[in-house]
Amino acid sequence: MPHAEPLSPARPSAPFLQKPAVRVIWPFVVGAAAILVGFLLSNTLPGYFVYLAISAVIAAIAIMGLGVVTGSAGMIALCQLTFAAIGAWIVALMNIWHAPGGFIVWLILGALVAGVAGILVGLPALRLRGVNLAVVTLGFAAAADVTLVQIQFPGSADAISVDRPAMFSNDKKFFFLSIIVLVVCALIVFFLQRSRWGASWKAVAFSERGTAAAGQSVQAAKLTAFAISAALGGVAGGLLAGQVQLPFAASFTPLQSLALYVLAIMSGAHLIDMAVFGGILWVLVPELLKRWNVPQDWGFVIFGVLGVQALTSGTSLGQGIRNLVWKRQDRKTASAALSALPPDAADGAEEIRTTTTATIDPALLTGEPVLSVEHLTVEFGALKALDDVSFSVPEASIMGLIGPNGAGKSTFVDAISGFLPKHGGRVLLGGRDLAGLSPTRRARLGLRRTFQQDRVPPLLTVGAYVRFVARRRLSTADIDETLAFFGCPPARARLSSVDVGTRRLVEVAAAVLAGPRLLILDEPAAGLSHDEHLALAARLRELPQRYGVALIIIEHDLDLVRSVCPMLTVLNFGQVLATGPQDEVLANPDVIKAYMGETELLS
Ligand code: ADP
Ligand code: MG
Repeated sequence: MPHAEPLSPARPSAPFLQKPAVRVIWPFVVGAAAILVGFLLSNTLPGYFVYLAISAVIAAIAIMGLGVVTGSAGMIALCQLTFAAIGAWIVALMNIWHAPGGFIVWLILGALVAGVAGILVGLPALRLRGVNLAVVTLGFAAAADVTLVQIQFPGSADAISVDRPAMFSNDKKFFFLSIIVLVVCALIVFFLQRSRWGASWKAVAFSERGTAAAGQSVQAAKLTAFAISAALGGVAGGLLAGQVQLPFAASFTPLQSLALYVLAIMSGAHLIDMAVFGGILWVLVPELLKRWNVPQDWGFVIFGVLGVQALTSGTSLGQGIRNLVWKRQDRKTASAALSALPPDAADGAEEIRTTTTATIDPALLTGEPVLSVEHLTVEFGALKALDDVSFSVPEASIMGLIGPNGAGKSTFVDAISGFLPKHGGRVLLGGRDLAGLSPTRRARLGLRRTFQQDRVPPLLTVGAYVRFVARRRLSTADIDETLAFFGCPPARARLSSVDVGTRRLVEVAAAVLAGPRLLILDEPAAGLSHDEHLALAARLRELPQRYGVALIIIEHDLDLVRSVCPMLTVLNFGQVLATGPQDEVLANPDVIKAYMGETELLS
């Protein structure tokens, strides 16, 4: 963004520099080790167990897909084995056509077709949530099941078995192939989970509004999750076709999709190792039941009970195991957050106490306004939450927006940032009319906001969240520097391990790193202690010079407003009581009257 000044280099004291090279290499090391183990197992396991092991690998890949759509993106998809059936069907079709490329190419083709089907099934997810989405996906699974029973798999009537690759023709070798496919899928998922897409999945699961406000399309986040998940389902199905060689519809029923979903929830499948664990359970539980002469359908009951446990406690088995391992480190980063306030924050706090009034460079007042609001009106039924609101914010200045509870401040932020499209009047950003633009578009144009409620997705690390929100290339040094500036925890800290007040600081830091023209902060100090509050205020005052951003700050503490905001707008019952330079606004008789009793304002 042209508006942000270059960030100054990281403070040498920043204690949390990462070693990216090591981070990129270790997944490949683990993958190579897994392939080696797979090779050893394929040569040592007895034949019967080899067949079970292939089934476990196939289930693990399908569950990994559910880990994306459900575990990360938080959507219920009860048709994973339908995508598997599509993958298997394509492989069977290519097989009877003797299509060029052989099994591996057919497998990839099956994944692609399943991925497209995933996007089609995901379209309703743009409007539906929760149970409604569950019903739609289960309905799709049921319809596909009926269809599959009718049309059967290509070649099944003539018992044409699927050709395995010559190199992997027997079960042992095919097991080794399936391990290689699993490792490739796991690496793809691993890096996707850490990419912008992965961040968007975790963001959309937590808050669609927060996602849109970060300039990320909510639709794209949901559809990519569905596509990747379905493609993995397709790979699983294609492998299954190679395993059984004569696939049939009974392997892909809606009931099994449901059981797989429960298993994914239970094992915490957004973690790759837990998806593999889930795949093993998928095979192990029915196998044990068989050995103990218990009907295998009881497996569904066991999965169901564990799934209910995971859903009600909010912690999956996998997450539980992870928590045990990570507990100590989490505590460390959480306390680091509190001690990470910049060393000079105390000075800033002192400054706040002694400086009573923020001043403004008069040149700014004559410049082109970054935001112009003209006759903005928002009605909720009979209630006029905003009534003919007009004011403007000069470039790189700080406007305080104050008013009693219910005055319409949050409604104002929602209307400006595109969340209330049906408003009267006009909103201009740098002279451009924002009418009809989505929150995502507005964020990309440089209009950023934070929320009064917590909208920071807990599944991400601080660094991943900041990169996701910033939407531009940032060096580790830039990120560390700004995090330190705001007193945020280090980039590697997990957001789930820091308190809400600190998460809101991270939200502000991330929005600033996006290099916006205008940043609207809706009560950014809520949840902070008094000292942190003062330290934050000192930081906010520096933002226009430091990052070239104009601010609108909604805040209740009038002392803080006075010391930070040279410009003020007062809202009351949805109307502007006064707007302009702070001293003029505070001297306005209407404002004094509305704030009667608030002696600190009058003094
Ligand atoms: P503030 O942020 O200044 O406390 P709000 O903007 O949240 O005030 O609310 C302004 C008024 O609009 C309040 O009377 C509130 O009850 C009402 N309001 C806010 N959002 C809605 C909504 N979605 N539906 C109906 N009324 C709303
Ligand atoms: Mg509010």
